[in-house]
Amino acid sequence: MHTLLDSFGRQINYVRLAVTDRCNLRCQYCMPAHGIDIVPRKELLTYKEMYRIIRVLTELGVNKVRLTGGEPFVRKDFIGFLEMLSYNDLLDTINVTTNGALVSKHLEKLESLKKIKNINLSIDSLQEEKFKTITRRDVFPEVYKTFELLEKSSLNLKLNVVVQSGFNTNEINDFVRLTKEKNIAVRFIEEMPFNGSGQRDLKENWNFKRILQEIQSQFDVEEIPAKKSSTSRNYQAKNHLGTVGIIPAFTRTICNDCNRIRITSTGTFKNCLFDDGVFNLRDFIRNGASNNDLKELFLSLVKEKPENGFVAEANRKKGNVSESMSTIGG
Ligand code: SAM
Ligand code: SF4
Repeated sequence: MHTLLDSFGRQINYVRLAVTDRCNLRCQYCMPAHGIDIVPRKELLTYKEMYRIIRVLTELGVNKVRLTGGEPFVRKDFIGFLEMLSYNDLLDTINVTTNGALVSKHLEKLESLKKIKNINLSIDSLQEEKFKTITRRDVFPEVYKTFELLEKSSLNLKLNVVVQSGFNTNEINDFVRLTKEKNIAVRFIEEMPFNGSGQRDLKENWNFKRILQEIQSQFDVEEIPAKKSSTSRNYQAKNHLGTVGIIPAFTRTICNDCNRIRITSTGTFKNCLFDDGVFNLRDFIRNGASNNDLKELFLSLVKEKPENGFVAEANRKKGNVSESMSTIGG
């Protein structure tokens, strides 16, 4: 079987697929207050097209998919798509990243789909007013309720916290405290300039090192050996049930073991978060490409995967990174 091996010997077995560019929140680090220019519906991949792309990728060795967006639960019949995807016998794991505002009523269904293993819930503050400032929407009670329900569910729960200088850095250790009694993974993400307008003027640079220092100022933490291709460096505070991770998303020290590719909601294939998109799969499919054509294409596209995110950024034709994470699929 041909598999997706890049020119640096990295085996690709993970795809992140954005199912929509739409979102019900307006997180300040992800998009402007007025939102982004969403694309006409017909430009989005259909669920059938997504199913087909994933099927072909799984025939090339991909066994794990993360569904993201925009907000995946905003797209009509997202649950139906999860069900459809679960029928792919070559797929072991389906993970979902969500803001949690539209999830609670679907929990039972999510638990019943056995391939759904991990839910990443984005929650950047545990304080209602601050949450509202960051997301520009008044949905903290619903998101917190979802957090509590997910924690009790059979799904593995990871909390995603984007560390934002001047906004939530004083809550880093409140999040660590949550892991004392709760068997969850809290992951702190370095903020990146994917927000629709480019680098924000931040007071302080909260990179990996600074976040770790902050945690170590209050907790005795031990590093947990990470799985190869993990995006985070992981730690556990003494006598805590859960773990904390730090994702060096911007300082990019994790690229050596990268095992992933991305597909945006409009079908743009990306080898790296920092590239500006290397191929339009949607038009290729709509112009009649066969599954074999798709296979050949994927095999050659991954050969162009850049060594790391800095090389990908330097090779961009569209200028500095500034596109919203909502259009890329975070
Ligand atoms: N709407 C869903 C959510 O918020 O979880 C899924 C899409 S969102 C783009 C995926 C992840 O990217 C979220 O955890 C979000 O916090 C993160 N993210 C968005 N913009 C970011 C940025 N500029 N820097 C770092 N992480 C970002
Ligand atoms: Fe929406 Fe997620 Fe972006 Fe927030 S981070 S605006 S929830 S896509």
